[in-house]
Amino acid sequence: MNDQATNRKGILIGFIQGLIVTIRSTLRRPVTAEYPSPDKRLDLADRYMAFPALMWDFEVSEPYCTGCMVCIRECPTQCMSATMKDNPLYSESRSRRRKIVDEFQINLGRCILCGICVDVCNFDAIEMSHEHELSKYERNGNRVDLGTLLSMGREYQRKVSWEPSQPEKNKGAPAGEESGAGKDTL
Ligand code: SF4
Ligand code: SF4
Repeated sequence: MNDQATNRKGILIGFIQGLIVTIRSTLRRPVTAEYPSPDKRLDLADRYMAFPALMWDFEVSEPYCTGCMVCIRECPTQCMSATMKDNPLYSESRSRRRKIVDEFQINLGRCILCGICVDVCNFDAIEMSHEHELSKYERNGNRVDLGTLLSMGREYQRKVSWEPSQPEKNKGAPAGEESGAGKDTL
């Protein structure tokens, strides 16, 4: 076989190999999901970290957050603010939390999803939720308040069957009322 015939054979083999790759790729199931079609989205992993949200204590019907300000001091972008108040449920012996959050705001447009607020919270009060679609036209359109953060939190708690990492320390129900005392449900 001369050189020309060998070259032609090589080109043909390369062509066939390329064709096989193309056919395989055409028939393969797509690994991408069409956005924003809800029924075609990929499931998020439980450990997925989107925007922070506040946890709700369903046994006592109040937030886990005491408004202690630790996360606010540690947030690198200073996008959080909060105030605390005396907890009325504590004075009625219905909660172990002496202080409770009064107001809480996060400008999620400035949040960099670092998770430091979650790491430093001693009260199991804040988690990185699965909420990640918050596009807005206004510069400060993603400044969210306590109610929104708690509703994001409830959605996250329901989705991942969330439990506090230190229940003995951080659940608010007084001793003897932990089980069955729940007023809320997920
Ligand atoms: S989320 Fe945690 S660290 Fe932040 S104010 Fe509430 S209790 Fe304190
Ligand atoms: S995730 Fe990071 S940037 Fe966002 S609120 Fe928490 S500490 Fe601040």
